[in-house]
Amino acid sequence: MPERRTLTYDVGLTTRFRGVTRRSGMLLQGVAGWGEWSPFPEYGRPEIDAWWAAAVESATQPWPAPVRDSVPVNSIVPAVPAEVAGRYALAGGCRTAKVKVAEPSQGLADDLARVEAVRAALGPDGRVRVDANGAWSVDEAVMAIRQLARFDLEYVEQPCASVEELAQLRVRLARLGVQVPIAADESIRRADDPQRVVALAAADVAVLKVQPLGGVRRCLELAEQLGLPVVVSSALETSVGIAAGVALAAALPELPYACGLNTLALLETDVADDPLVVRDGRLDVRRVSPSGDRWRASAELAEWWVRRRRSVDAGAAQAVAR
Ligand SMILES: [Mg+2]
Repeated sequence: MPERRTLTYDVGLTTRFRGVTRRSGMLLQGVAGWGEWSPFPEYGRPEIDAWWAAAVESATQPWPAPVRDSVPVNSIVPAVPAEVAGRYALAGGCRTAKVKVAEPSQGLADDLARVEAVRAALGPDGRVRVDANGAWSVDEAVMAIRQLARFDLEYVEQPCASVEELAQLRVRLARLGVQVPIAADESIRRADDPQRVVALAAADVAVLKVQPLGGVRRCLELAEQLGLPVVVSSALETSVGIAAGVALAAALPELPYACGLNTLALLETDVADDPLVVRDGRLDVRRVSPSGDRWRASAELAEWWVRRRRSVDAGAAQAVAR
């Protein structure tokens, strides 16, 4: 038994995300502190084993030695009207903003207006990245990125869904002389083989997330193997899970990009009385323990998580030993 105690949380989301309005997961306590296990409800094995391995690592092992004591994070601009986008971009004193684009109910004109507003709010020294969550075809991505490029983008995250499309897109953009880097997110964390992104030259930047990829140490190894600059992001976790992402970002030899770890505001409440709050666009490197009980799940939901956890025990042990 790697853990001493488990608790289950269930909190509302401030904005609908992935079609859901609540987020729940299990927190486990071990000799090193607390870990979070919160694979999304529709995920099954073996995917959830990696998430479990990350939680066990967090609870039972010390973090790798940090090389910095705080990490920069980006603000998040959802698919909101351009008039309010600047306010989102500047939240928390961030100097980097990630703007959602390619929302199904909107068009390129909405994306252009939103990104323009964010660039204006941050000024020429701010950094602006966009995330399409794989929604564009290669043709759509070429058209959109050619126009968005005038706002001096840091990178475009997952413009198309597949690794092959990302590779094609990079060639097309290069031929057109459009110099906007491409970042792979879903193509790394939900892929059987994250190395394909490198093998097919499909991305310039890799987005790494601790839980989906099996832990802080696994991500450090992967960063080294991929040989690409890394952006550390969250999987919409509580402060306990975010702290593991911060630990990863703190331990990376180089951290050229602000981290996508500023997602706590998407939860209506956190599991800690001293949550990881963004100050001057940065998060401190520290462990977080749950406190209070306003976030506790119903007995029924807690039992669902216990059953789910039993289903991963065997595979998770292997994942941890990997
Ligand atoms: Mg993404």
